[in-house]
Formats: sequence, structure tokens, C-alpha cells
Amino acid sequence: MTAYDPNNIFAKILRGEFPCYKVYEDDHVLAFLDIMPRSTGHTLVIPKAPARNIFDITAEDYGHVARGAHKIAAAAKTAFKADGMTIGQFSEASGGQVVFHLHMHVMPRHDDVALLPPTSRKEDPKVLEDHATKLIAALQAF
Ligand code: AMP
Repeated sequence: MTAYDPNNIFAKILRGEFPCYKVYEDDHVLAFLDIMPRSTGHTLVIPKAPARNIFDITAEDYGHVARGAHKIAAAAKTAFKADGMTIGQFSEASGGQVVFHLHMHVMPRHDDVALLPPTSRKEDPKVLEDHATKLIAALQAF
């Protein structure tokens, strides 16, 4: 497998070299909005530990990411009045991975609304700011 590339975009976000719509952070994970959301409130949870994908992350760090996704999902259900939630994690190009720092997708779902295809549309920054504010507020309860 290809080695972890410390210059991937999410590593730059972790180092503060690139901006993001941060919604949550703890010692182990960072969560921020996907700028090309497939659903309203689409959020990514990433480990602070360098990991390319499922094949090199430790079970412990994967657990931290899953715990973060669990928290985001609970808050996003409230923030976006979601009917359901789709959680996903893609590994390697053949698995649909595009950014090679492990991330878990948390995608709030509404009845009869299909997911947009991956990376189909860049969201308006004002909408992302509004969604981040709503999600951060809802996270206070979790
Ligand atoms: P994947 O196919 O699982 O690798 O998904 C990568 C995701 O990262 C896609 O949903 C992109 O829309 C998203 N993405 C790419 N660049 C950024 C960025 N700078 N900030 C937030 N999300 C991003």
C-alpha cells in the first residue's frame, strides 16, 4: 500500500495550514463540514493520528473516529431534523477514496431525498457557516 502522504489536504487542515468549517475537536479527532456535501450537514470526522485509511489505522484510533461520528450523528439529527443518517468510510481508490487521510462521512438523511453524487457541487460558504453554527449548537447537548 502507498505510504501516508503528510501533504494531503486533511493533514494540512489538521496543521492549520488550510481552513475548514470546524464543528468538533478533542484530543483524538477533528470534525468539519464537507465543502461538497452529499446531504445537508454532511460532516467528516478524521483522526489526528496520521492514517491513510482502514488498512493502516490502529483499532484504537478507528474507535476514536467512530466515537466522534456517533456524537456528530446524534447532534446532526437534532440540528438538521434528520429522519436518518448514513455513515461511510472509503479506503483506496477502488473503494471510492479520494482524500488519503482516513475520514468517516456522517450524512444526515431526509425521507425521499437522495444523496448527491460525491463531489458534485461546492456549497455556498454562507450555507456552510449556517450549518456549522447549527451543528455546534446542537453538539452542546452531547
Ligand atoms: P472520499 O471519497 O471518502 O475520499 O471523500 C473525500 C471527501 O472530502 C469528499 O466528500 C469531498 O467533498 C471532501 N473534501 C475535499 N476537500 C475538502 C475540504 N478542503 N474541506 C472539506 N471537505 C473536503
